Amino acid sequence: MPDSSGPLIGGLADGGQEQSQQLIQAAIDAALHSLPEGESTGVCTVCGEAIEAGRLELIPGASDCADCAQKASRPLPLSNSN
Ligand SMILES: [Zn+2]
Repeated sequence: MPDSSGPLIGGLADGGQEQSQQLIQAAIDAALHSLPEGESTGVCTVCGEAIEAGRLELIPGASDCADCAQKASRPLPLSNSN
């Protein structure tokens, strides 16, 4: 008579998933804390234009407008030397 006690897989992945969840949370926390803090003047320090209200809601301490931030984060296209 076969002994059907079921597969014993419990305990193999013990804690592994929980640990990666903590790593993800730590990464999120680090990203949040890397954001500029404090109050923004509401004016872009790069071009002097008013920073979008929606951007200030996302990043309260934003010191540049979305346009300038995008330009700053995106590498300038290399000028082709023809
Ligand atoms: Zn700007």
